[in-house]
Amino acid sequence: SITLQKVSKSFGTTSVIPEIDLDINDGEFVVFVGPSGCGKSTLLRMIAGLEDLSGGRIVIDGKDMSNEAPAKRGLSMVFQSYALYPHMSVYGNIAFPLKMDGQDKAAIDKKVRDAANILNLTNYLDRRPGQLSGGQRQRVAIGRAIVRQPKAFLFDEPLSNLDAALRGNMRLEISDLHHQLKTTMIYVTHDQIEAMTMADKIVVLNAGRIEQVGSPLELYRNPRNLFVAGFIGSPR
Ligand code: ATP
Ligand code: MG
Repeated sequence: SITLQKVSKSFGTTSVIPEIDLDINDGEFVVFVGPSGCGKSTLLRMIAGLEDLSGGRIVIDGKDMSNEAPAKRGLSMVFQSYALYPHMSVYGNIAFPLKMDGQDKAAIDKKVRDAANILNLTNYLDRRPGQLSGGQRQRVAIGRAIVRQPKAFLFDEPLSNLDAALRGNMRLEISDLHHQLKTTMIYVTHDQIEAMTMADKIVVLNAGRIEQVGSPLELYRNPRNLFVAGFIGSPR
């Protein structure tokens, strides 16, 4: 499990996250939603270890990881901008974190091929990122996260660069991936449809505070206030 205890963040004198408490259970698909600037990425980056906390603790599987390096947290982050290596093949890109780990060739090969299989990339392993569509590139980025067998995947608006049709497909693929792997996923979006269709649990953020946490149905039926209702699209 991943637990946020009184987590806060300020940049200089500006407080962007006053204080957040949140429990994320193993295997849960948790979606952070909220308007631009409400602190979604900052919160995700703090969980990943890419941003220091100003206060509070992040506890992963019972251990305080607040000051642990990103690589030690056992989490894999998938960025919106893919961040693939253009000069490497798809295979090389997916294998990269395992090579850095110093794993042996046979083990790497199996993990890369398993990931490619799950993501329908088997026929593209020799291509370079520049020879792929946006959706394929996004799948490579996810493949690179999968091979590390993380405790949780962290996604920051992974589909926002894709066109509407592709976004729909990738939404289903990521949900499917979650069903297959049953790994915890924390997914940031400002897309209501993604939140409502993918989440086990939605966390509605507003100006660095949690407005409400609940299943899509709970939030839809019982939004705590107009802000949540507006964001979730409940009838008022
Ligand atoms: P979006 O939906 O646009 O991606 P977000 O919810 O992810 O927004 P964050 O990127 O977490 O929002 O930013 C939260 C607030 O913190 C914003 O007001 C932003 O300007 C501020 N902020 C983020 N990073 C920094 C930084 N390095 N220095 C100063 N302020 C920052
Ligand atoms: Mg963001």
